[in-house]
Amino acid sequence: MRAVTFQAPGEVRVEEKPDPEVGAPDEALIRVEASGICGSDLHIYHGRVPVEKGFTIGHEYVGTVLEVGADVERVAVGDRVLGCFHTACATCAACLRGDYHRCESQRTFGHGSHLGNLQGAQAELLVVPRANLTLRPVPSSMSDEAALFAGDVMGTGYHAVAHAGMKAGDTLAVLGLGPVGLCAVQAALTGGAVEVFAIDSVADRLAMAESFGATPVHLTEEEPKKAVRAATEGRGVDVVVDAVGDPAPLAMAISLCRDAGTVSGIGAYAGKGEVPLGLAWLKGLQLRLGLANVIAHVDRVMALIEAGRLDPTPLVSHHMRLDAAAEAYALYDNREALKIVLTP
Ligand code: ZN
Ligand code: ZN
Repeated sequence: MRAVTFQAPGEVRVEEKPDPEVGAPDEALIRVEASGICGSDLHIYHGRVPVEKGFTIGHEYVGTVLEVGADVERVAVGDRVLGCFHTACATCAACLRGDYHRCESQRTFGHGSHLGNLQGAQAELLVVPRANLTLRPVPSSMSDEAALFAGDVMGTGYHAVAHAGMKAGDTLAVLGLGPVGLCAVQAALTGGAVEVFAIDSVADRLAMAESFGATPVHLTEEEPKKAVRAATEGRGVDVVVDAVGDPAPLAMAISLCRDAGTVSGIGAYAGKGEVPLGLAWLKGLQLRLGLANVIAHVDRVMALIEAGRLDPTPLVSHHMRLDAAAEAYALYDNREALKIVLTP
């Protein structure tokens, strides 16, 4: 089969690899129909997330089941399925709490040996462990490209809002309108937010958020704090989502949030940073952080996509062939694409 492999920082390559086979009884083999390139793939591309040379990358996928192990009951050969970006064991203490994103033996597709040694989905074939938990059949009315968002990016946007405990009638601000931020905008509006301030400095992304029903606020040409205050009688919004994952947007999130509101940090933070802890304490804020619990949300997210109440398809800016992966990564790295879908 052909597969997109990491070679060195800034270099990916399509290589011929042996066809993978079902090994354990909980595994399924799928023929990948579509895979996505994600912001987290860029961390690998830049060498910030270490992955072995020749490792197959990619973790967003939709495909057709070709073979299942003896214990796989929830999907069958011939089913069109979408998969979550990581697997979970369903039996450890974290899984028993429902915290699948903190599974003690979690494995992430396409992230090298240090994250579970699970070959990636930007390939013609993929072996999916824990298939009963990882895969879902896709309704016939749902397109491949809509479905592939449910197992990662839309699941993450949904989590940012759900994890914040947002209620219908709340006001929100979303900082950073990459794919996750834009999905968070949709999830908030679908969940009953009365106003969502969408904050970024890229005109196209602001326009897309506005087309979803958000109030666009330019990060530098406008004053987000002023705009939010003016619209909320000076109080700030109930929930702020930081979809960037840096100290500066987190600090802004704290300043935009109302007293006793919630800041939901869904962007990936790294290392240390300076944030106004005193202000967060004085305001009595809740801070909710971490990776999204996509496995816990995937069924609701798919139901909302099927009902037409979430529609991630406007985010797909490019359709490219798997063979053009090197070009696709370069495009994505140059910020010329919002979401690239690869087809074998
Ligand atoms: Zn992803
Ligand atoms: Zn587990």
